[in-house]
Amino acid sequence: MSEQIYIGVDLGGTTVKVGICDKDGKLVQTYEGPTESEGGYELVTDNINTYVKKIVESSTYSWDNVAGIGAGIAGFVDKNGFVKKAANLGWENVHVKNVLEEKIGKPVIVNNDANVAALGEAWSGAGAGAGVSDVVCYTLGTGVGGGIIIENKIHQGFNGMAGEIGHMSVVPDLEAIQCGCGQKGCLETVSSATGIIRMAKDAVERGDRTSLSLLETITAKDVFDAARVNDEVAIRIVKRAAYYLGRSMSALAVVLNPQRFIVGGGVSKAGDILFDQVRENFKTFTPGALQEGVDIVPAKLGNDAGIVGAAGLNLFKI
Ligand SMILES: [Zn+2]
Repeated sequence: MSEQIYIGVDLGGTTVKVGICDKDGKLVQTYEGPTESEGGYELVTDNINTYVKKIVESSTYSWDNVAGIGAGIAGFVDKNGFVKKAANLGWENVHVKNVLEEKIGKPVIVNNDANVAALGEAWSGAGAGAGVSDVVCYTLGTGVGGGIIIENKIHQGFNGMAGEIGHMSVVPDLEAIQCGCGQKGCLETVSSATGIIRMAKDAVERGDRTSLSLLETITAKDVFDAARVNDEVAIRIVKRAAYYLGRSMSALAVVLNPQRFIVGGGVSKAGDILFDQVRENFKTFTPGALQEGVDIVPAKLGNDAGIVGAAGLNLFKI
């Protein structure tokens, strides 16, 4: 059998997810096991090696079919697969690419998890087909993550830090609040689940009339649900989150001219109530020529984007 397969590793703080993809980015098999990050990088990389070997053994493929292994890691990873810092793993200055290649005996490519998820979506998720090669991905969760794909490759920037779109400074000074990155007014402060919840809590504390004040704890989903039944405060919060998302896309469109914006993460599950307004704001702020043929769509792969994108690292030689 000469078919080439690609293995993706999504290395999380508690679980390692491993998957086999074919050359078209179809996820054909998955496996997962504990990270055991408390054991340090030696144990974690041993575990990855074990899981990779196990998934191949339990598949219909042989080790010779494996063209390469890719891994996505939350943290700062440079272009050489050197992890400067990965807080959830407790790693600092680990040359994870070299360590894994030595243990596994196949080429390994390592990248940041948000970049990898973006590649997964571009390759076989919401960017698949129709020759979409230039994509910007947003992940709206606790924070706002991002990844930029240009001509089918992750755009990394000179220091590997490109794609931090959650930290675009978009909120005017007078309304800007502190972001975890040390700056103020980042997109993440208004368009993440955390930002949406904060705006809702502020409104309740101010005494605004809203059904949200009846809840013991407020989630981002509660805010979208309330907006759907015409709670004015909730509508205002959704509008604000969508406004800055749309504006940030406009800023990226004039610089990068991507064909598609893909929006994933928990907040994106809000659906049309969010997407319609994001699209409207994008239209309002983007010059006509830069809107042409550009669309804003929900992500498709969900939690598998990380595994699929990691597998794709070797196919696209990123
Ligand atoms: Zn920030």
